[in-house]
Amino acid sequence: MRLLRYDKLPTLTGLVHDSTLRLAVTGLSHSGKTAFITSLVHNLISAIQRPARLPFLRAAAEGRILAARVLPLGKDAIPLFPMQKTVSALSGDPPHWPPSTTDLRQARLSLRFSPRGFLGGRNPIWRTASTADVTVEILDYPGEWLLDLPLLCQSYEQWSRAMFDLVRRGGRAPLACDWLDFLARHPADGADDPEAAFLAHNLYRTFLAACRTSEQLSLLQPGRFLSPGQMADPSMLWFCPLPLSIGGQVRPRSLAALMAARFETYKRDLVQPFFLQLARDVDRQIVLVDVLRALNAGEEAFADQRLALDIILGAFRFGRRSLLRRLFGARIDRVLFAATKADHVPALQRDHLEALMADLVEAPSLRAKAAHARTAATSLASIRCTEDDTDIIEGRKLDVVVGLPEGGEKRIRFFPGIVPVRPPPPGFWGERFTEFPVFQPPRITRATEEGIPHINLDKALNFLLEDTLA
Ligand code: GDP
Repeated sequence: MRLLRYDKLPTLTGLVHDSTLRLAVTGLSHSGKTAFITSLVHNLISAIQRPARLPFLRAAAEGRILAARVLPLGKDAIPLFPMQKTVSALSGDPPHWPPSTTDLRQARLSLRFSPRGFLGGRNPIWRTASTADVTVEILDYPGEWLLDLPLLCQSYEQWSRAMFDLVRRGGRAPLACDWLDFLARHPADGADDPEAAFLAHNLYRTFLAACRTSEQLSLLQPGRFLSPGQMADPSMLWFCPLPLSIGGQVRPRSLAALMAARFETYKRDLVQPFFLQLARDVDRQIVLVDVLRALNAGEEAFADQRLALDIILGAFRFGRRSLLRRLFGARIDRVLFAATKADHVPALQRDHLEALMADLVEAPSLRAKAAHARTAATSLASIRCTEDDTDIIEGRKLDVVVGLPEGGEKRIRFFPGIVPVRPPPPGFWGERFTEFPVFQPPRITRATEEGIPHINLDKALNFLLEDTLA
């Protein structure tokens, strides 16, 4: 990767300020975190030579970003985001998508810029007379972990009952048969047999995985069952909800007592420390949401994604309604919700997608955002794989996108249908939303001059970084 190095800059005469901005990136599995971070880092570096890559990131467009480099060492023993590998995947022949996020990772990017308002403008000599450095620490974590926030306020009995209310509904019920059969043979007030607890946990986890893959459901708790990350003692996870009667007590030394004890350990040793870290170490948050996938999967998947989003919103709300703030005193001061993979739909539908995202999180869209909004919504494509075009279909002129499906040889013209601007009413779901192809990403060069094609990445970055680079 070609970097503009600090040591290539003329010696600096007046630093204005040095600072660190901690930006966390999250979203449920496959929402696009890996693609987003790769594109963010690569494009910020390329913006030095090609400000036109990020026209709506003000500091880039004004030519005020002077240098950028990825810092090699991480902090706090968090593994580094594999930038080299993700860029290699995208620069391969043919290019392919890099592997997705499954654990906590971080990337650190050092930026040197000239603050706005200093004399010098685009003149490189005057500009260096007034420069500032900022380190952008990017923390990448699975959004599934956020789904555990409500557990902190629930007892094992309350959580079990909430899970059983869900399990009996819709597409979940048929997938739960093996697990429920096992529980019928191992009642909650039976012996506290660790082997039975382990087997029940495994069957429950298989059930959650099936909910995700075959029904595209999102509200799958506990979050670490499908995205465990690194942990010292996996036996912490060996529990599952049990069918407990309302008001019934958990009998000492029963299977339910063993499960309840593990549930409490899970909360104390995994959930609490994670949220504490989030509250302590994050200034800004972007939440990536694959809204198009949920729309595509149908009414239940869409409703379930809304439930999961409500929990995530509960974490990041401002004011007294924020659980994260109430429990841990979070310092996050700006949150962006982004509907990803917007290159699957043509321009007008991308506006619809942004409006839908804004409606789902009750926040202004980036376009309509008030100057000091702390929460906003957008639609974006971190890595744009398609172009817009029009087609005549059944005598009507329609907007389509054109791209190469992964593994294919010919580009296809794809009409995705209409994206609703609000959560669709029941009648909408009669017709299934069109199945989305996986498009091959564009081939990028390892050098950063070209950057990575995107949609709205610059607008998102401007919301998240503008004041830092001002
Ligand atoms: P993660 O699990 O959140 O890290 O998700 P990834 O970033 O790995 O993305 C999952 C998959 O979504 C990728 O392998 C791509 O197929 C697709 N994807 C991600 N971002 C984009 C995008 O901007 N455009 C398109 N067309 N597909 C994307």
